[in-house]
Amino acid sequence: TYDAVAIGEFLIDFTPGGTSPAGNPLFERNAGGAPVNVLAALARLGKRTAFIGKVGNDPFGHFLQDTLRQEGIDDKGLVFTDHAHTTMAFVHLGEGGERSFHFCRQPGADEALAFEEIDASLLGGARVFHFGSVSMTSEPSRGATLAAVREAKARGAWITYDPNWRPALWQDNQHAKQAMEEGLKEADVVKVSEEELFFLTGADGLEAGAQLLMERFPVKLLLVTLGAEGSYYRTRTAEGRAASYPVAPVDTTAAGDGFMGAFIYALLENDRPVPEWTDGELRQALAFANAGGALATTRRGAIASLADHGEIEKLVKGEPIPD
Ligand code: ATP
Repeated sequence: TYDAVAIGEFLIDFTPGGTSPAGNPLFERNAGGAPVNVLAALARLGKRTAFIGKVGNDPFGHFLQDTLRQEGIDDKGLVFTDHAHTTMAFVHLGEGGERSFHFCRQPGADEALAFEEIDASLLGGARVFHFGSVSMTSEPSRGATLAAVREAKARGAWITYDPNWRPALWQDNQHAKQAMEEGLKEADVVKVSEEELFFLTGADGLEAGAQLLMERFPVKLLLVTLGAEGSYYRTRTAEGRAASYPVAPVDTTAAGDGFMGAFIYALLENDRPVPEWTDGELRQALAFANAGGALATTRRGAIASLADHGEIEKLVKGEPIPD
């Protein structure tokens, strides 16, 4: 069995990498995709993980497989295709460091995953099954994602979900909202940013939005990440906030995934359904997750920026972070 299995997009992020001797911008090849970042965070914390997704049978797809192996994530659920290229996204930096994403995905290999291609042993043996919304932008990966989530849930897995709204990947807002809501119907634990919460509920306040979302969907625990402000949680019976840690951010890529990975770690360690947790246990889990998120901002990159157990513990205890 696995502690956590995740399904979703796995792609190449080309991030700005300086300039060539001729003065042209260079791009650096990095593994990207939130579900794998979350698994990498868990693997670094010592958990047994496996990934389900599809890449092209090309050098980028092989690089992504190597990345899974290097991170200690089981790759038996990684499917290769000769009919689509590994998905790519170019990250452009605007004036003032604002990031924009340009996806090469028409369609990309990640979207071509079909339910029949999924290794059934990964749906039966997971304690936690994690997914996002990027794999629900088109078929067949949308149907595959939802069917996999339902199957894992029926076989006893806890379902965790990060809707991760990327407007450029959807036909329009209605299309995005409808698919993101399909996921909300299945999830036990949901993590959103404040922006995603407002988009999903139409509310413009944190507490009001959280209340609306919990009324509409059978979610047991809602987590809202608040950047430098830490995070907020709401269950059927309680709500509260957990303060962030003072860090000097250099790159916020994967902060949300570092947060989610660290939270799922706490979920696995507690090993009891969230509704049975005390307020103290919830706060402790949020503190651990906030530290995982904060540390991911102190280093460049996605997977490379994720923290280990010792670093998170130190930050939670208030010890200084080494350079
Ligand atoms: P994404 O990485 O997809 O943008 P997100 O919007 O969920 O995800 P953030 O809210 O930026 O991510 O960060 C996740 C968590 O990381 C926060 O809830 C917080 O605990 C921590 N964090 C992020 N930025 C900072 C910061 N500047 N200082 C301290 N902690 C931070």
